[in-house]
Amino acid sequence: MTHPAPITDNAATGAAALRLTGVTLHLGNDQQQVTALDSVDLAVAPGEFVAVTGPSGSGKSSLLAVAGGLQNPTHGTVHVAGTDLTTLKEHQRTAHRRRHIGYVFQHANLFASLTAREQLLLTAHVAGRLDTDTRRRADGLLEAVGMSARAHHRPDHLSGGERQRVGIARALVLAPEVLLVDEPTSALDRTRARDIVDLLAQQTRTHRTATVMVTHDHEILDAADRVLTLRDGRLS
Ligand code: ADP
Ligand code: MG
Repeated sequence: MTHPAPITDNAATGAAALRLTGVTLHLGNDQQQVTALDSVDLAVAPGEFVAVTGPSGSGKSSLLAVAGGLQNPTHGTVHVAGTDLTTLKEHQRTAHRRRHIGYVFQHANLFASLTAREQLLLTAHVAGRLDTDTRRRADGLLEAVGMSARAHHRPDHLSGGERQRVGIARALVLAPEVLLVDEPTSALDRTRARDIVDLLAQQTRTHRTATVMVTHDHEILDAADRVLTLRDGRLS
């Protein structure tokens, strides 16, 4: 089955690889509505590493879910690599996400039946890019996150921190144009946290990735080019 090419509008998005404009997200039902995001504007250029901090419940995970096309905003537009995700049908959005976005979930979200290495290879396979170079890159990334020795273990035989590191390597395997990272160091010790954030920064530079990392770990903010704060869904 072939799908029509998504509509692109480079004039509207400028140089940003990721651009959120007037994004508001209401969650919940009619009885109890939460404004998770409130009129958020954010543009991230290729090669730029943006950190977003803020207290628990301030909308950090919601921001990434909307930026990654996992959640449609109530209002506003979300441009990723020139295409407004909010205009796409579900299957087009999924295809666009696989092509352009690397996503690190707060809780790694690994497949229970696959080994650490297979998690990375599956991502490449689904994108039609499982070649020798990608396999080499997958092994290099497992090494970089300190998971080479455990590459053939499944998630139930890995610690929380190890699963988190596999999730990070998986998001990087296709060198995406946009990288969205949710609390990458929450299960890691200090030394490991530093290594991971340095890796994210290095990948951002090398591949000209537009990276957004949300975190409440203030010790890693120095790796970012820009630090923004979310408070009650408002970004400043
Ligand atoms: P953070 O990641 O900063 O902790 P979230 O983006 O997860 O914040 O949540 C933002 C707000 O939206 C919180 O008040 C949270 O309780 C609320 N929220 C998150 N998911 C839902 C949902 N599915 N239904 C209703 N409210 C939600
Ligand atoms: Mg969160």
